[in-house]
Amino acid sequence: MSFNFDLFVIGGGSGGIATARRAAEYGARVGLAEFNRLGGTCVNRGCIPKKLMVYTSHFPRVLEESQGYGWSPAKSILDWPKMMAAIDKEVGRLNGIYQKMLDKSNVQLYRAHGKLLDPHTVEVENTKVTTDKVLIAVGGRPIKPNIPGKEYLVTSDAMFELPEQPQRVVIWGGGYIGVEFACIMHGLGSDVIQIIRSDKILKGFDEDIRTIIQESMEEHGIRILKNCSISEVKKTNQGLTISLEGDSNNDMVLADTIGLAATGRIPNLENLGLENTEVKVHNGVIVVDKYSQTAEQNIYAVGDCTDRINLTPVAISEGRAFADTKFGGKSCLMSYENVPSAVFSTPEAATVGLTEAKAKEQYGKNAIRVYSSEFRPMYYVLPDTKEKTLMKLVVHQESDQILGAHMVGDHAAEIIQGIAIAVKMGAKKADFDATVGIHPSSAEEFVTMR
Ligand code: FAD
Repeated sequence: MSFNFDLFVIGGGSGGIATARRAAEYGARVGLAEFNRLGGTCVNRGCIPKKLMVYTSHFPRVLEESQGYGWSPAKSILDWPKMMAAIDKEVGRLNGIYQKMLDKSNVQLYRAHGKLLDPHTVEVENTKVTTDKVLIAVGGRPIKPNIPGKEYLVTSDAMFELPEQPQRVVIWGGGYIGVEFACIMHGLGSDVIQIIRSDKILKGFDEDIRTIIQESMEEHGIRILKNCSISEVKKTNQGLTISLEGDSNNDMVLADTIGLAATGRIPNLENLGLENTEVKVHNGVIVVDKYSQTAEQNIYAVGDCTDRINLTPVAISEGRAFADTKFGGKSCLMSYENVPSAVFSTPEAATVGLTEAKAKEQYGKNAIRVYSSEFRPMYYVLPDTKEKTLMKLVVHQESDQILGAHMVGDHAAEIIQGIAIAVKMGAKKADFDATVGIHPSSAEEFVTMR
């Protein structure tokens, strides 16, 4: 049977675009449907606008710190609409780059919703296209918990569209997105309260990392209400009045904006036509095997809609592994071991490999050696601020192999990205010891820990 396409991709985000381009490079005839701005969550409502806001939020602190180096006090105010417009312009530029890349790769782009009519037919723009293989890369979206007053909650998507700066911000959620938004809004000058379900932010990260970031955020003036949750929101003449349940239920919390972060995301599976195929969905997520193949033999899925590790580089790598295997004649599997990640909080954190707790659980308590170093980086000496940096290595006792590397401090993401290559290659602590440091730097501590 002849099809219009060898591959049809539904979703033009991180995973979809990377896969479409890679398959086209191998000569496949590729079509792609995207109804929204190209680039998906990362470019439009995630990593990129967020990181630009992180940069914006650091300037007041830098101006403050500069005085320790002899600069006169400088006062500057943030023009919120100007910041938003600058970010939107950059996002627009990236949308254009994606468009050009797809054109250059000869991927046929449909600016429309894609729906499966059967395993080989996709409906787009009121037409039907046929395809040998299908890749579902539809990502996910934030959902609001069903509480009274939920209409006053602002999802992470809408946090990027606030028309003016809220003075009082409540962030609900202790995951990495919540922590990042809390730090961004605080850095931009809002009063921030963060509401978390347990007693510590960043579940799943190394305990020491969690502790240091939380202490640091609190020292900077972010109020973290622990072991509690929002039960109701009401609009009053004082603003949004928040009722809490849990440890802080006597606290009266008022806000102008309640940012919802990481309290829940679900894959975009509605009206996708999965019922016309054998694709299986479990707990709202598409079920795939290690080759990203669904229960329908010609349909594959990558990225957030499969809920494996929900990060842009993972969605991209899953898609490329699929394209290399199916169109490039290679057998490629995505490896989920030692995937590095970062939290763009203030202070920043980054991590690769096993946490101390996970390593002990996996190998036994006595099979692990831990090295850590906590210090005030040189940059903060003259401004005389208390900022701490933490570096930590988790090492397998018998083999000397580095199982995990963790850091809190300036440029943690940049530093851990380099360390991640060594960890992925199976570096031993002795290799780190044999590496000459770069002096004076914070990163040299990773090769001098004893
Ligand atoms: P997406 O990028 O979401 O793309 C899916 C696309 O499919 C969307 O454009 C959507 O419009 C389209 N679509 C959906 N249904 C259809 C349909 N039926 N027809 C046509 N098109 C459709 N990751 C990092 O690595 N680093 C970060 O710093 C980071 N920060 C983040 C911050 C926030 C606030 C959020 C929300 C996420 C962040 N992420 C980060 C996660 C990252 O954005 C996602 O993991 C990544 O975008 C997933 O890519 P994807 O291809 O699976 O889906």
